[in-house]
Amino acid sequence: MRDFEFCGDLTPEQTDLKYIWHPCSQMKDYEELAPIVIDHAKGVWLYDIHGKKYLDIVSSWWANLLGHSNEIISRAISEQLRRMEHVIFANFTHAPAIQLACELAKIVPPQIKKFHFNDNGSAAVECALKMCFQFYLQTGKPRKQRFFCLTDGYHGETIGALAVGSMDLYTKIYQPMMMETIPVQAPDCYRCPFGKLRGCCQCECFQAAEKAFAEHASECAAIILEPLLQGSAGMRVYPALYLKKMRALCDAYDVKLIVDEIATGFGRTGKMFACDHAGISPDVMCLSKGLTGGYLPMSVTCVTQEIYDAFYADYNEGKAFLHSHTYAGNPLGCAAALAVQKILREEPVIETANKNAVWLTQELEQAFETHPHVGEIRHIGLIHAIELVKDPKTKEPFDSRKRLGYAIYKRALSRGLLLRPLGNVLYFNPPLNITREELQTAINIARQSVREVLG
Ligand SMILES: *Cc1c(COP(=O)(O)O)cnc(C)c1O
Repeated sequence: MRDFEFCGDLTPEQTDLKYIWHPCSQMKDYEELAPIVIDHAKGVWLYDIHGKKYLDIVSSWWANLLGHSNEIISRAISEQLRRMEHVIFANFTHAPAIQLACELAKIVPPQIKKFHFNDNGSAAVECALKMCFQFYLQTGKPRKQRFFCLTDGYHGETIGALAVGSMDLYTKIYQPMMMETIPVQAPDCYRCPFGKLRGCCQCECFQAAEKAFAEHASECAAIILEPLLQGSAGMRVYPALYLKKMRALCDAYDVKLIVDEIATGFGRTGKMFACDHAGISPDVMCLSKGLTGGYLPMSVTCVTQEIYDAFYADYNEGKAFLHSHTYAGNPLGCAAALAVQKILREEPVIETANKNAVWLTQELEQAFETHPHVGEIRHIGLIHAIELVKDPKTKEPFDSRKRLGYAIYKRALSRGLLLRPLGNVLYFNPPLNITREELQTAINIARQSVREVLG
């Protein structure tokens, strides 16, 4: 155990709250439930300084892909650390980045040829937007300056990324700071406006995209979307057919397709990338989170040769993409990412996860389907979500101000499960190598916690 002498008379929790402003938190909530001080972690387990352990069923914000303190990844980072921690990535390069680009080239959709490194997901999205904007500026279509996006999307927290995301309560505050986008009504298979059942449709909802493109494509550079899974919207899963149609629509109207695979990449949806379910190749693909196994902040914006070529010219033509982040291409991040690729190549991680996913679906359905407040259990890959509603017949949601999800979160936490909800949607998004036994533990605690709060 570490010593907390620097805390003086305060507890570590009190000292934390004296100085630290935590992300995505109403800090006043911590009066009731202080932040949990984690000492160490292994596999799916987090161990706090008081000796209590928590099963991390949300992969520490969807990032941890292959378990905490994974020996192969940890070793790769410490070996790289002995050689070099970081080096400027303009005019300089290094083996881990070169090798990682080679590995990524083998697994990304076929039209993706070039890799631009950044240091977080939002930055990868900013990069994608700027690249598409500048692409049209430099290929004789300077009027194409705007962006389509899906409603209820999530692409990060910076101003550009927020602008192409959901206009919810917290985003609206910043609206005066943002560019104006053209939102396309996203698919919503649970509450399908066309009255179709999940999996039994022709994506009638795609009309919304067709209409928006017919009206605005001439002024738009790209559409950005989360493929197959709108994560932050409540793990909303939609059909691969929608993506196929979107690829065709983008081709028809000369609009670039930016696919944000930050949450879905590297096996989360049961294939290497969500795009692979639809067999499409996007123009731009954003990667982060699982890229380094959730170890280090790194992202890559991947593009086609066509986009890359529009920036390639004599310096004085002023066509270069002059976007940089200090830690772009960080060698430690690349070493972690290479270790992740090695594991995915050599071990049947995704296949095993897919088998466990089938089992998990059955178990969750058995545990929750008959509960009077379970509206839908939906899933893709190992990701499973349970939407709690006031009335499953009408699908009427619970009043979000009741904070039911948060109440369940607190119960689960006291029992040793980190089950961080999205509103009233509970979800599992564990590391791909979680065992059935660990999943069973999570199911049991989740069921007890739901029962305690909702009866
Ligand atoms: C997490 C996430 C982002 C933002 O990544 P950060 O590293 O948190 O900036 C963007 N898009 C999607 C789909 C994400 O899940």
